Amino acid sequence: MGGGVVYAALQHKNEGSEAMDHGLKGQVAVVTGSTSGIGLGLAEALAQQGVSVVLNGLGDRDEIEAVRAGMSARNGVEVLYHDADMTQPHRIADLVGSTRNAFGRLDILVNNAGIQHVAPVDEFPTEQWDRIIAINLTSAFHATKAAIPPMKAAGRGRIVNIASAHGLVASPFKSAYVAAKHGVIGFTKSAALEVAQQGVTCNAICPGYVKTPLVEAQIADQAKARGISEEEVMKTVILAAQPTKQFVTVDQLAGLLLYLVSDAGASVNGAALSVDGGWTAA
Ligand code: NAD
Repeated sequence: MGGGVVYAALQHKNEGSEAMDHGLKGQVAVVTGSTSGIGLGLAEALAQQGVSVVLNGLGDRDEIEAVRAGMSARNGVEVLYHDADMTQPHRIADLVGSTRNAFGRLDILVNNAGIQHVAPVDEFPTEQWDRIIAINLTSAFHATKAAIPPMKAAGRGRIVNIASAHGLVASPFKSAYVAAKHGVIGFTKSAALEVAQQGVTCNAICPGYVKTPLVEAQIADQAKARGISEEEVMKTVILAAQPTKQFVTVDQLAGLLLYLVSDAGASVNGAALSVDGGWTAA
Protein backbone atom coordinates (compact mmCIF):
# COMPACT_ATOMS: atom_id res chain seq x y z
CA MET A 1 0.00 0.00 0.00
CA GLY A 2 1.30 3.48 -0.82
CA GLY A 3 1.00 6.70 1.12
CA GLY A 4 3.17 5.57 4.02
CA VAL A 5 4.86 8.92 4.45
CA VAL A 6 1.62 10.90 4.42
CA TYR A 7 0.08 8.46 6.83
CA ALA A 8 3.05 8.43 9.21
CA ALA A 9 2.94 12.24 9.36
CA LEU A 10 -0.75 12.27 10.24
CA GLN A 11 -0.30 9.54 12.80
CA HIS A 12 2.48 11.54 14.43
CA LYS A 13 0.33 14.67 14.45
CA ASN A 14 -2.44 12.74 16.12
CA GLU A 15 -0.14 11.63 18.91
CA GLY A 16 1.41 15.05 19.44
CA SER A 17 -1.49 17.51 19.42
CA GLU A 18 -5.20 18.03 20.02
CA ALA A 19 -7.11 18.48 16.77
CA MET A 20 -9.53 21.44 16.60
CA ASP A 21 -13.10 20.23 17.27
CA HIS A 22 -15.32 20.63 14.20
CA GLY A 23 -18.45 19.24 15.89
CA LEU A 24 -18.50 16.04 13.84
CA LYS A 25 -18.32 13.49 16.66
CA GLY A 26 -20.62 10.51 16.08
CA GLN A 27 -21.00 11.11 12.35
CA VAL A 28 -20.30 8.46 9.70
CA ALA A 29 -18.17 8.91 6.58
CA VAL A 30 -17.29 6.89 3.50
CA VAL A 31 -14.00 7.82 1.82
CA THR A 32 -13.38 6.09 -1.49
CA GLY A 33 -9.77 5.30 -2.41
CA SER A 34 -8.62 5.67 1.18
CA THR A 35 -5.97 2.96 1.40
CA SER A 36 -3.31 5.38 0.16
CA GLY A 37 -2.30 9.01 -0.24
CA ILE A 38 -4.87 11.79 0.08
CA GLY A 39 -7.85 9.53 0.84
CA LEU A 40 -6.01 7.82 3.67
CA GLY A 41 -5.01 11.17 5.13
CA LEU A 42 -8.56 12.56 4.85
CA ALA A 43 -9.97 9.44 6.51
CA GLU A 44 -7.51 9.83 9.39
CA ALA A 45 -8.48 13.51 9.77
CA LEU A 46 -12.17 12.56 9.98
CA ALA A 47 -11.43 9.78 12.48
CA GLN A 48 -9.51 12.30 14.61
CA GLN A 49 -12.78 14.27 14.80
CA GLY A 50 -14.64 11.27 16.20
CA VAL A 51 -16.18 10.31 12.86
CA SER A 52 -16.65 6.59 12.15
CA VAL A 53 -15.06 5.88 8.80
CA VAL A 54 -15.50 3.28 6.07
CA LEU A 55 -12.22 2.85 4.22
CA ASN A 56 -12.10 1.65 0.62
CA GLY A 57 -9.41 0.99 -1.93
CA LEU A 58 -6.94 -1.46 -3.34
CA GLY A 59 -3.90 -2.93 -1.63
CA ASP A 60 -2.53 -5.77 0.45
CA ARG A 61 -5.24 -7.11 2.78
CA ASP A 62 -2.95 -7.47 5.80
CA GLU A 63 -1.64 -3.92 5.42
CA ILE A 64 -5.17 -2.56 5.02
CA GLU A 65 -6.27 -4.43 8.15
CA ALA A 66 -3.33 -2.97 10.09
CA VAL A 67 -4.27 0.54 8.91
CA ARG A 68 -7.94 -0.02 9.75
CA ALA A 69 -7.22 -1.35 13.23
CA GLY A 70 -4.65 1.38 13.94
CA MET A 71 -6.97 4.19 12.85
CA SER A 72 -9.75 2.78 15.00
CA ALA A 73 -7.61 2.29 18.12
CA ARG A 74 -5.85 5.64 17.86
CA ASN A 75 -9.03 7.65 17.49
CA GLY A 76 -11.52 5.58 19.49
CA VAL A 77 -13.94 5.29 16.57
CA GLU A 78 -15.23 2.41 14.52
CA VAL A 79 -13.34 2.03 11.24
CA LEU A 80 -14.52 -0.49 8.64
CA TYR A 81 -13.11 -1.47 5.27
CA HIS A 82 -15.08 -2.24 2.10
CA ASP A 83 -13.28 -3.59 -0.95
CA ALA A 84 -15.56 -2.12 -3.67
CA ASP A 85 -13.79 -1.75 -6.99
CA MET A 86 -14.68 1.73 -8.26
CA THR A 87 -15.18 0.37 -11.80
CA GLN A 88 -18.13 -1.75 -10.56
CA PRO A 89 -21.42 0.15 -10.07
CA HIS A 90 -23.09 -2.57 -7.98
CA ARG A 91 -20.07 -2.75 -5.63
CA ILE A 92 -20.15 1.03 -5.18
CA ALA A 93 -23.84 0.87 -4.30
CA ASP A 94 -23.00 -1.92 -1.85
CA LEU A 95 -20.28 0.24 -0.25
CA VAL A 96 -22.87 2.89 0.59
CA GLY A 97 -25.60 0.36 1.45
CA SER A 98 -23.30 -1.61 3.79
CA THR A 99 -22.31 1.59 5.55
CA ARG A 100 -25.95 2.42 6.20
CA ASN A 101 -26.60 -1.12 7.43
CA ALA A 102 -23.59 -1.03 9.75
CA PHE A 103 -24.15 2.42 11.26
CA GLY A 104 -27.75 3.33 10.45
CA ARG A 105 -26.62 6.63 8.93
CA LEU A 106 -24.32 8.25 6.38
CA ASP A 107 -23.30 11.86 6.97
CA ILE A 108 -20.25 12.38 4.78
CA LEU A 109 -19.24 10.97 1.40
CA VAL A 110 -15.78 11.77 0.05
CA ASN A 111 -15.37 10.69 -3.57
CA ASN A 112 -11.61 10.49 -3.75
CA ALA A 113 -10.54 7.34 -5.66
CA GLY A 114 -8.54 8.23 -8.72
CA ILE A 115 -5.87 7.01 -11.09
CA GLN A 116 -3.72 8.61 -13.74
CA HIS A 117 -2.23 7.65 -17.10
CA VAL A 118 0.08 9.93 -19.04
CA ALA A 119 0.34 9.61 -22.85
CA PRO A 120 -0.37 11.69 -25.98
CA VAL A 121 -3.98 11.43 -27.22
CA ASP A 122 -3.01 9.59 -30.39
CA GLU A 123 -1.19 6.95 -28.35
CA PHE A 124 -3.58 6.88 -25.38
CA PRO A 125 -4.66 3.27 -24.69
CA THR A 126 -8.45 3.09 -25.03
CA GLU A 127 -8.77 0.79 -22.02
CA GLN A 128 -6.88 3.35 -19.89
CA TRP A 129 -9.26 6.09 -21.05
CA ASP A 130 -12.25 3.94 -20.07
CA ARG A 131 -10.71 3.02 -16.71
CA ILE A 132 -9.88 6.63 -15.79
CA ILE A 133 -13.37 7.85 -16.70
CA ALA A 134 -14.90 4.98 -14.68
CA ILE A 135 -12.80 5.44 -11.54
CA ASN A 136 -12.26 9.22 -11.55
CA LEU A 137 -15.70 10.33 -12.74
CA THR A 138 -18.40 7.66 -12.97
CA SER A 139 -17.70 6.20 -9.52
CA ALA A 140 -18.57 9.58 -7.99
CA PHE A 141 -21.95 9.41 -9.76
CA HIS A 142 -22.70 5.91 -8.46
CA ALA A 143 -21.65 6.70 -4.87
CA THR A 144 -23.52 10.01 -4.84
CA LYS A 145 -26.63 8.41 -6.33
CA ALA A 146 -26.66 5.91 -3.45
CA ALA A 147 -25.80 8.51 -0.77
CA ILE A 148 -28.34 11.21 -1.62
CA PRO A 149 -31.57 9.42 -0.52
CA PRO A 150 -30.43 8.79 3.09
CA MET A 151 -28.91 12.27 3.32
CA LYS A 152 -32.12 13.87 2.05
CA ALA A 153 -34.15 11.78 4.49
CA ALA A 154 -31.90 12.92 7.35
CA GLY A 155 -32.12 16.57 6.24
CA ARG A 156 -28.33 16.85 6.30
CA GLY A 157 -25.40 15.53 4.34
CA ARG A 158 -22.02 16.43 2.92
CA ILE A 159 -20.60 15.22 -0.37
CA VAL A 160 -17.05 16.26 -1.21
CA ASN A 161 -15.49 15.29 -4.51
CA ILE A 162 -11.73 15.34 -4.79
CA ALA A 163 -11.29 16.85 -8.25
CA SER A 164 -8.01 18.54 -9.19
CA ALA A 165 -6.49 21.71 -10.58
CA HIS A 166 -6.88 19.61 -13.73
CA GLY A 167 -10.64 19.99 -13.28
CA LEU A 168 -10.14 23.68 -14.08
CA VAL A 169 -7.18 23.80 -16.46
CA ALA A 170 -5.45 21.28 -18.72
CA SER A 171 -1.98 19.87 -19.18
CA PRO A 172 -0.77 17.91 -22.18
CA PHE A 173 -0.67 14.09 -22.09
CA LYS A 174 -3.42 13.82 -19.46
CA SER A 175 -6.52 13.94 -21.66
CA ALA A 176 -8.54 11.29 -19.79
CA TYR A 177 -7.68 12.65 -16.36
CA VAL A 178 -8.41 16.26 -17.36
CA ALA A 179 -11.70 15.23 -19.01
CA ALA A 180 -12.74 13.21 -15.95
CA LYS A 181 -11.84 15.97 -13.47
CA HIS A 182 -13.65 18.65 -15.51
CA GLY A 183 -16.58 16.23 -15.49
CA VAL A 184 -16.40 15.86 -11.72
CA ILE A 185 -16.76 19.62 -11.30
CA GLY A 186 -19.78 19.73 -13.62
CA PHE A 187 -21.34 16.80 -11.81
CA THR A 188 -20.68 18.48 -8.46
CA LYS A 189 -22.56 21.60 -9.56
CA SER A 190 -25.58 19.69 -10.85
CA ALA A 191 -25.86 17.52 -7.75
CA ALA A 192 -25.47 20.59 -5.51
CA LEU A 193 -28.38 22.36 -7.18
CA GLU A 194 -30.60 19.31 -6.77
CA VAL A 195 -30.04 18.83 -3.02
CA ALA A 196 -29.61 22.45 -1.92
CA GLN A 197 -32.98 22.67 -0.15
CA GLN A 198 -32.55 19.42 1.76
CA GLY A 199 -29.58 20.37 3.94
CA VAL A 200 -27.14 18.53 1.70
CA THR A 201 -24.11 20.15 0.09
CA CYS A 202 -21.90 18.91 -2.72
CA ASN A 203 -18.53 20.54 -3.37
CA ALA A 204 -15.28 19.81 -5.15
CA ILE A 205 -11.78 20.31 -3.79
CA CYS A 206 -9.24 20.99 -6.51
CA PRO A 207 -5.74 20.20 -5.24
CA GLY A 208 -2.55 21.11 -7.01
CA TYR A 209 0.30 18.63 -6.75
CA VAL A 210 0.42 16.58 -3.56
CA LYS A 211 3.34 14.20 -3.12
CA THR A 212 1.54 10.85 -3.08
CA PRO A 213 2.20 7.55 -4.88
CA LEU A 214 0.00 8.80 -7.75
CA VAL A 215 2.32 11.76 -8.38
CA GLU A 216 5.50 9.77 -7.81
CA ALA A 217 4.41 7.41 -10.60
CA GLN A 218 3.71 10.37 -12.89
CA ILE A 219 7.21 11.73 -12.52
CA ALA A 220 8.54 8.59 -14.21
CA ASP A 221 5.76 8.58 -16.86
CA GLN A 222 6.20 12.27 -17.68
CA ALA A 223 9.94 11.78 -18.06
CA LYS A 224 9.24 9.06 -20.62
CA ALA A 225 6.52 11.00 -22.48
CA ARG A 226 8.61 14.18 -22.66
CA GLY A 227 12.00 12.51 -23.13
CA ILE A 228 13.57 14.32 -20.17
CA SER A 229 15.04 13.23 -16.82
CA GLU A 230 12.90 12.74 -13.71
CA GLU A 231 14.72 15.61 -12.01
CA GLU A 232 13.82 17.87 -14.95
CA VAL A 233 10.16 16.79 -14.64
CA MET A 234 10.09 17.80 -10.96
CA LYS A 235 11.66 21.16 -11.73
CA THR A 236 10.08 22.13 -15.04
CA VAL A 237 6.74 20.27 -15.03
CA ILE A 238 5.48 19.46 -11.54
CA LEU A 239 6.57 22.40 -9.41
CA ALA A 240 6.65 24.74 -12.41
CA ALA A 241 2.86 24.66 -12.32
CA GLN A 242 2.71 25.69 -8.69
CA PRO A 243 3.69 29.31 -7.96
CA THR A 244 4.56 28.43 -4.34
CA LYS A 245 7.08 25.88 -5.70
CA GLN A 246 5.92 23.59 -2.93
CA PHE A 247 3.75 20.53 -2.86
CA VAL A 248 0.28 20.91 -1.33
CA THR A 249 0.05 18.84 1.87
CA VAL A 250 -2.65 16.40 2.87
CA ASP A 251 -3.07 18.36 6.11
CA GLN A 252 -4.01 21.44 4.08
CA LEU A 253 -6.63 19.45 2.16
CA ALA A 254 -7.94 17.97 5.41
CA GLY A 255 -8.39 21.49 6.81
CA LEU A 256 -10.70 22.41 3.94
CA LEU A 257 -12.55 19.10 4.07
CA LEU A 258 -13.29 19.50 7.78
CA TYR A 259 -14.60 23.01 7.18
CA LEU A 260 -16.84 21.89 4.31
CA VAL A 261 -18.36 19.00 6.26
CA SER A 262 -18.90 21.02 9.45
CA ASP A 263 -21.90 23.27 10.15
CA ALA A 264 -19.72 26.26 9.23
CA GLY A 265 -19.65 24.98 5.64
CA ALA A 266 -23.44 24.78 5.23
CA SER A 267 -23.66 27.64 2.70
CA VAL A 268 -20.77 26.49 0.54
CA ASN A 269 -22.49 24.50 -2.20
CA GLY A 270 -21.59 23.58 -5.77
CA ALA A 271 -18.16 25.16 -5.39
CA ALA A 272 -14.87 24.08 -6.95
CA LEU A 273 -12.33 25.15 -4.35
CA SER A 274 -8.68 25.41 -5.36
CA VAL A 275 -5.90 24.35 -3.02
CA ASP A 276 -3.10 24.64 -5.52
CA GLY A 277 -0.60 27.23 -4.34
CA GLY A 278 -1.94 29.67 -6.94
CA TRP A 279 -1.59 27.40 -10.00
CA THR A 280 -5.01 28.20 -11.49
CA ALA A 281 -4.72 31.92 -10.75
CA ALA A 282 -2.32 32.29 -13.66
P1 NAD B 1 -3.04 7.41 -4.61
O1 NAD B 1 -2.63 6.59 -5.80
O2 NAD B 1 -2.09 7.57 -3.48
O3 NAD B 1 -4.42 6.86 -4.02
C1 NAD B 1 -5.50 6.49 -4.85
C2 NAD B 1 -6.47 5.65 -4.06
O4 NAD B 1 -7.50 5.21 -4.96
C3 NAD B 1 -5.85 4.38 -3.45
O5 NAD B 1 -6.42 4.09 -2.20
C4 NAD B 1 -6.25 3.30 -4.47
O6 NAD B 1 -6.28 2.00 -3.90
C5 NAD B 1 -7.63 3.79 -4.84
N1 NAD B 1 -8.09 3.19 -6.09
C6 NAD B 1 -7.50 3.19 -7.30
N2 NAD B 1 -8.22 2.45 -8.16
C7 NAD B 1 -9.29 1.99 -7.48
C8 NAD B 1 -10.39 1.17 -7.81
N3 NAD B 1 -10.56 0.65 -9.04
N4 NAD B 1 -11.29 0.89 -6.85
C9 NAD B 1 -11.15 1.37 -5.58
N5 NAD B 1 -10.12 2.15 -5.21
C10 NAD B 1 -9.21 2.46 -6.15
O7 NAD B 1 -3.47 8.81 -5.23
P2 NAD B 1 -3.70 10.26 -4.55
O8 NAD B 1 -2.65 11.15 -5.07
O9 NAD B 1 -3.90 10.13 -3.10
O10 NAD B 1 -5.06 10.67 -5.27
C11 NAD B 1 -6.32 10.70 -4.61
C12 NAD B 1 -7.25 11.61 -5.39
O11 NAD B 1 -6.74 12.94 -5.40
C13 NAD B 1 -7.43 11.20 -6.85
O12 NAD B 1 -8.77 11.39 -7.25
C14 NAD B 1 -6.52 12.17 -7.57
O13 NAD B 1 -6.92 12.39 -8.89
C15 NAD B 1 -6.70 13.42 -6.72
N6 NAD B 1 -5.63 14.39 -6.85
C16 NAD B 1 -4.34 14.06 -6.53
C17 NAD B 1 -3.36 15.02 -6.68
C18 NAD B 1 -1.92 14.74 -6.34
O14 NAD B 1 -1.07 15.59 -6.66
N7 NAD B 1 -1.59 13.64 -5.70
C19 NAD B 1 -3.68 16.29 -7.15
C20 NAD B 1 -5.00 16.57 -7.47
C21 NAD B 1 -5.98 15.62 -7.31
